[in-house]
Parts: sequence; structure tokens; C-alpha cells
Amino acid sequence: MLIVMKADATPQQLDSVCAMVRTLGLTPHPIPGPTRVAIGVTGNTQPVDAEPIRGLAGVMEVIRVTQPYKLTSREMKPDDTVIRVGEVEIGGGVPFVIAGPCSVESREQMSKTAAALREQGAAMLRGGAYKPRSSPYSFQGLGEEGLTILREVRAATHLPVVTEAVGTEVFDAVEETADIVQIGSRNMANFPLLKRAGQSRRPVLLKRLMSATLEEFLLAAEYIMSEGNRQVMLCERGIRTFSDHSRYTLDINIVPELKRRSHLPVLVDPSHAAGRRDSVIPLARAALAAGADGIMVEVHPDPDRALSDGAQSLTIPMFAELMAEIEIMRPVLARAAGRKA
Ligand code: PEP
Ligand code: MN
Repeated sequence: MLIVMKADATPQQLDSVCAMVRTLGLTPHPIPGPTRVAIGVTGNTQPVDAEPIRGLAGVMEVIRVTQPYKLTSREMKPDDTVIRVGEVEIGGGVPFVIAGPCSVESREQMSKTAAALREQGAAMLRGGAYKPRSSPYSFQGLGEEGLTILREVRAATHLPVVTEAVGTEVFDAVEETADIVQIGSRNMANFPLLKRAGQSRRPVLLKRLMSATLEEFLLAAEYIMSEGNRQVMLCERGIRTFSDHSRYTLDINIVPELKRRSHLPVLVDPSHAAGRRDSVIPLARAALAAGADGIMVEVHPDPDRALSDGAQSLTIPMFAELMAEIEIMRPVLARAAGRKA
């Protein structure tokens, strides 16, 4: 349920409506808008009788939200969510790029990569200190040492850092370092981790599980939002299909559908979908053309020697080519989205 307050409703009236919602055993989530405040209501397992709320002072209308996901839905919040991280606006209409290696491997690797990425115009640096690997025998990440390296590189380059929390036990450490905490694909259905991310003050980049439907993806985001964290971005990274020519299949289709159904920023990771570097630039173009707010790509200064995902990592010159192409696409993308370049 969504309660829309009148434009001239007072803070006291807002408080009384929230109090009434709590009396009904439900949870109010005030959502400030450009002209009026709305209150998202969650917690009901059955339809709620809206009459006691409709009659309260300051209430303009009460709308039933038909989707199973509530706080993530556009029904609840029609305007796009914009997440600010330093000087970067995520979802603000200007496509942006998160780039970096799959894993943090060493101080030298990260400093070299970050300096090049910054020069080419990357908005943020990615790199896993904790890695969720399919095999227990694969490189698992440098852990705390990796986080230290990320902090040092951020201090030197001023690039905000995106890094993954693979479980609740490392969340505190990751959130101390990360400007954005990543929840990896395999953890999209790790509900205790989603709840922990919901209690964080950091924005969360939630990757889609390779077998998740759109509804399951948005309900995973709902877990984070229902704990109080409104700063969630969704990332499509490829789903598992019968394709035998790529690592996963990039579900470009989900991009406009997510934008229609949710107000949250939508990112695309073409690297994990492709599994091979020569497909990453074409897929990145497609993602932006389909309306993604940004892309996340893996880049490594020496991909053939990377400790993880080298085959899909762009070289630094390839990354420069990608950035040049995005620059050329910018006016067309802006026109497609109905805004000034
Ligand atoms: C990653 O971004 O490094 C990663 C492990 O991705 P995913 O969770 O999508 O497999
Ligand atoms: Mn990777």
C-alpha cells in the first residue's frame, strides 16, 4: 500500500499517519518526492483495510500496490532513484563506468590499473578482496590485505571503490572500505546477507543470480530496502541458458523491463556474461543502448596472467577504446532518454 500525502501536509500529520500504520501492525517507509511525501507500507500478508488511514488529516490518497515487491516498485516511487557516490550520480541520466580487475591481486596491479582507468574516465574502481569462486581450489582473494590495498589506491586516485561482501561474517570489514558494497550473483538469494546489507549505510550493488526471474531479483532488492537501505542498484550479469558459445547469456531484455517496473538504477556487467574479452565491448554498447544507467567491466593490465577471470578482462588499450566509443554514443543515448547531452 502507498499513502500519498497532500502537498501541504505538515510533519505532524505525517507522524500521525506513520503512527496509525504502526498501530495496524505494519511498517511505514516515508518516501520524500519533489512535491509531496508518500509513505510506503509493508508488512501485510493480507489486504489491509485502508479506511482508517484514508480519513486522516493530510492524506490525499491511498493506493494498493499490486506487485509482490513494494519499495523497489515504480508504483510506490514513480521517479528514478539517484544514488550519489562522491561526485558520481548513479541513475542520474549520465551513463557511467565501473572498471577494474576481477580480484585484487597486488598493490602494483591495483595502482597500475587504477591510474590508467582514472585517466580514461572510469567513474569507479572495482576489485574483489573476497572472491566467490566455483572451485575451492581457485584463488579466493587476498581478504583483509585486499581491502587495505583498495583503501590505499582510493586515497591515491580518489576513485570510489566497489568491492564484494561474500558473507555476513566479512560485511563489517567490507563496508568500512567500500564506497559501494557488491552482493555477488551467487549470493542474491543469501537472505541473511541481504538483510545485513539493508542495515548498511553504504549503497549496494546487487547482481542477479544466473537463474533468477525478474520478480525474484526485485524481491532480493526488496530484502535490502525493507531493512532501511534505499541505496540499491541492480546489475544484470548474464543468465544460464543452453548457449554453448558464451559463459552466460546477457539478458538485455531485462534492462527496459526493470526500468519500467522499478525506480532503482540498472547496471549491466557484460564481462561475466561474455566470458571472453572480444565480446565485452559489443555487449557494453548493447547494454547502454537498451537504457542501462551504467556498466561494470573487468580490466586487467596483464589479463593473461590474471588470477581470476583473465579471459574476459579487457586490456587497458581495449578499455580506452570502450570509453572512446561511449563518448561517441553519449548524445544519441541522451536523445533516446529524452534529455540534453
Ligand atoms: C564479480 O563481479 O567479480 C563476480 C564474481 O561476479 P558474479 O557474482 O556476477 O559472478
Ligand atoms: Mn570476475
